[in-house]
Amino acid sequence: MKTKAAVTRSWGEPMTIEELELESPKAGEVLIKVAHTGFCHSDLSAWKGIYGLDVLPIVLGHECAGVVQEVGAGVTHLKPGDHAVSCWQAPCGTCESCVSGNTHICENLLPSLGSGKLMDGTARFKDKNGEVINHALYVSGFSEYIVSPAIASVKVPKELPLDQACLLGCAVGTGWGAVHRSAMVKTGESVAVWGCGGIGLNIIQGARLAHAYPIIAVDLEGSKEALAREMGATHFINSSKEDPVPIIREKITGGKGVHYVFEAIGDPGAYLQSFFVLKNGGRLMAVGIPSCEEMVTLPFYIVPFQANKIEGVLYGSLRHQIDIPRLADLALRGDLKLEPMITQHCKLEDVNGMIEAMEKREIVGRWVFDF
Ligand SMILES: [Zn+2]
Ligand SMILES: [Zn+2]
Repeated sequence: MKTKAAVTRSWGEPMTIEELELESPKAGEVLIKVAHTGFCHSDLSAWKGIYGLDVLPIVLGHECAGVVQEVGAGVTHLKPGDHAVSCWQAPCGTCESCVSGNTHICENLLPSLGSGKLMDGTARFKDKNGEVINHALYVSGFSEYIVSPAIASVKVPKELPLDQACLLGCAVGTGWGAVHRSAMVKTGESVAVWGCGGIGLNIIQGARLAHAYPIIAVDLEGSKEALAREMGATHFINSSKEDPVPIIREKITGGKGVHYVFEAIGDPGAYLQSFFVLKNGGRLMAVGIPSCEEMVTLPFYIVPFQANKIEGVLYGSLRHQIDIPRLADLALRGDLKLEPMITQHCKLEDVNGMIEAMEKREIVGRWVFDF
């Protein structure tokens, strides 16, 4: 079948809108008509080529929701007409990580996650000349139709609008998961969040749902303050105007520092700053992914002296088939705020303008493609 998609043919060059050929789903796969896709900062990073992957040409986009059209052999948890959120997690279910409940670090998933292919090592997209076009993280949401692993696709209630549902696939899943699955923040513990993009806002929201206090948001742009506070931030620091370290250490926490810092940017300078606000025993949760060429330098003697922990967070340690339906229910009950996150609806043709706006840090909340 034909599908319209935004194709990245070389890193950092404008995406081209093309009509591609999409193969039918094979066994264990589903065909989804995408309704909405969020534009995640990781799409911008991938488009710049900072992950060092050899996957061109590629259809990016990994935060989408839509309607199942067709299922391949052996798929039982989804049927045509179901609403589904696409996830960038397709665990094998049999390796040591999977059977230990850590499907986000499935040993068989991680090598293929950045391969540009689906689980069987092949792609389903071809361009008009017959050239194979790669998938991004099994999703490729910058396409009208996608073929994705069924295990990566989660059924959600039809009452939840699909533009809100798509956010569950990355920003909300990763942010909420970082708090509730990775860090397991407890009531009354203190949290600071560096970066108020889609994931940072949902770390803040997750911290609100965990009844953390204080919840301190740090961002270079004052324009992010109102939404950060709406999501649950009790304090906001504009780090382009003030040094957040003494404010957090001395003013807000009375010299103690915080239990958890979530770095949701992937910036070496932000990692260093955030490290200095940890209290004794505090944990630095590394959510943001720096470029593959950057090094983060820390005064490491402090780590054993303060008994700090530095922990990588991949996809918020999300158990997507369990957690995404629960998050959908939380949203329907009004506890999880999705609607305020969506600040602009766009067409796929707007993708290059969106890249420009994100590079200039002009995007507050999520801009979402409507198909
Ligand atoms: Zn993302
Ligand atoms: Zn596995």
